[in-house]
Amino acid sequence: MAKTLGTIVALSHQIVFFGGAGVSTESGIPDFRSADGLYNQELGASIPPEEILSHSFFVSHTAEFFAYYRTHLLHPQARPNQAHLALAELERREKLSAVITQNIDGLHQMAGSRAVLELHGSVHRNHCLACGRHYGLDLVAASPGIPRCPACAGVVRPDVVLYEESLDPGVMSQAVRELAGADTLIVGGTSLAVYPAAGLLQAFRGRELVLINREPTPADRLATLVIRGSIGQTLAEFAD
Ligand code: NAD
Repeated sequence: MAKTLGTIVALSHQIVFFGGAGVSTESGIPDFRSADGLYNQELGASIPPEEILSHSFFVSHTAEFFAYYRTHLLHPQARPNQAHLALAELERREKLSAVITQNIDGLHQMAGSRAVLELHGSVHRNHCLACGRHYGLDLVAASPGIPRCPACAGVVRPDVVLYEESLDPGVMSQAVRELAGADTLIVGGTSLAVYPAAGLLQAFRGRELVLINREPTPADRLATLVIRGSIGQTLAEFAD
């Protein structure tokens, strides 16, 4: 008989969670590929989000980039949901060693997770392209048009990995180390369509691979347990 998620978690000593935008949809942040995701919204349909969120678009259409970014990727009111809270609780219980996320919203940290590897950066970190000064989310969220450095008037950009840009090699190698040492990998809320992040799954050597997603993913056939449903509801049993 197939093991339940509860049994797998109970028998695991070093769980790694690998997630994506689907982890935050229950916090009100749209993902890319669901029916109400950014790909299917008006602007996303005419110019794909990948193009707007690319390095070359940022350079050539900086004002349009920030207009889209502020409207669609900044969600300062969003709060962690049951999935974020459960993962933080599993870390506190020393069951889970790391969350590897493709998300840029900072909700895992807000839920209390400490070992968070942000493959695509964070909206909470920003820096001036001219003088290098660092800023939080407020400056970018509050500026009309292109955010400017209060000290030198340079453009302030988010520390978010845009399409055409490379992932931080330090974060990547830490993620590989975590995956290689894990006995259980829980993958959730990701279409596994974005590379190189999705390719990281190959570093996992453990026994139990659990997939929690509303839609099928390319890794389902490798999983020991596939749960087709809400990640918040599925993980709620582990929330404090
Ligand atoms: P994606 O949109 O390609 O896929 C999301 C997947 O999650 C889909 O397969 C969908 O069926 C599933 N899903 C959605 N809500 C779910 C729920 N409540 N429970 C279970 N499954 C659910 O997202 P991706 O794979 O993360 O790739 C998109 C890229 O977009 C990533 O690189 C990410 O950085 C970025 N992004 C991030 C955010 C964020 O920070 N919250 C939001 C949008 C996009």
